[in-house]
Amino acid sequence: MALYVHKYGGTSVGTVEKIEGVADKLKKFKDAGHDVVVAVSAMSGETNRLIGLANAISDQPIPREMDVLVSTGEQVTIALLSMALQKRGVPARSYTGSQVMILTDSAHMKARIQDIDTDNIRADLDEGRIVIVAGFQGCDAEGNITTLGRGGSDTTGVALAAALKADECHIYTDVDGVYTTDPRVVDKAKRMDKITFEEMLEMASLGSKVLQIRSVEFAGKYKVPLRVLHSSKEGNGTLITTEEGSSVEQPVISGIAFNRDEAKLTVMGVPDIPGVASKILGPVGAANIEVDMIVQNVAADKTTDFTFTVNRVDYAKAEEVLTKVAKDLGAREVAGANDIAKVSLVGVGMRSHAGVASKMFDVLAQENINIQIISTSEIKISVVVDEKYLELAVRALHTAFDLDDDKES
Ligand code: ADP
Ligand code: ASP
Ligand code: MG
Repeated sequence: MALYVHKYGGTSVGTVEKIEGVADKLKKFKDAGHDVVVAVSAMSGETNRLIGLANAISDQPIPREMDVLVSTGEQVTIALLSMALQKRGVPARSYTGSQVMILTDSAHMKARIQDIDTDNIRADLDEGRIVIVAGFQGCDAEGNITTLGRGGSDTTGVALAAALKADECHIYTDVDGVYTTDPRVVDKAKRMDKITFEEMLEMASLGSKVLQIRSVEFAGKYKVPLRVLHSSKEGNGTLITTEEGSSVEQPVISGIAFNRDEAKLTVMGVPDIPGVASKILGPVGAANIEVDMIVQNVAADKTTDFTFTVNRVDYAKAEEVLTKVAKDLGAREVAGANDIAKVSLVGVGMRSHAGVASKMFDVLAQENINIQIISTSEIKISVVVDEKYLELAVRALHTAFDLDDDKES
């Protein structure tokens, strides 16, 4: 007998019929003698609908009230799933985040879990119940409802698994595992049997939204065995593991991630003197804008250009901040674009292989795609390109790095 934590995403609980299907699946685990704790998302589209309601009232809704609002989506699904289980004769009980006592910090809309009180859950499991917990939400020390950021139910699932020392955490979704790239964009994408935490973390950070970044961080830190599976198809899915393959079987590139939520800004003609980078990025950070890639060239004369990327939602705000900074610095002008995208190759195999970057640039050159910014780390290479070439770039790279699933073609 094992203890499993399951997480079901929005499409997997998107209709009453699908919720009934999840209840059937859970009953099978229970009948096989296992204990199960379940984290569920809101029905698909519901979180967006709620955000839309808030935006119809205000362009800057109060974060505390946003959390009170968007957390309601998950409250609906926990109750319905509990009813569906009880209809099948399976004892079950639902809990909101604050009822469990999923304690978070107070950073509304991007709160971090600090502690989970497992007493209620354990007592219910001992009584033979399936425990259903609302994903994506918690509660701060003052009792305010908080949420964990978009996709946060993944993190609820993994955090519950860590706190309960579950045997495995299953993330059930609308794809049957983690693919070499988003299978909705590249139909030759290949499902991986396993991927390392390190690679999965890079994939998630670089835009593969199949798992929320924090859920992977959590799973890596607390050594939670994590598996991504399809909620209504059989299969072993993808195991996220600490093991790297042997060097013989380890591919150089494991996957390709991409992100459309990007924008770039350039301050042109900045004096090339010490302290300039901090004078530019200080006010950007103070405005709560996260900076991703940064490029500064060596000055040919006494001035240089300073470019960085931000999330597209912060583009207008960043431009406003920079216009003021540029004036104070005596820089020439501020330029920017928000129709860019980032494409990244990810693979632990890159550590022991030279020439990956030059091959990547070569493939993009053959497709006539201009590279605007480049950044590298030990296990990834990212480039920024014009958004309209994103899919072409991903497909060409997928083929060139031998990732295509030829069975599909
Ligand atoms: P859920 O509602 O279950 O949390 P998400 O929409 O958050 O589901 O995540 C699943 C989606 O992630 C898939 O439908 C797929 O389009 C997308 N995705 C992006 N990159 C990948 C990848 N590398 N492998 C699998 N799915 C991916
Ligand atoms: N319902 C939330 C969202 O849509 C959390 C989740 O689904 O993981 O982002
Ligand atoms: Mg998700």
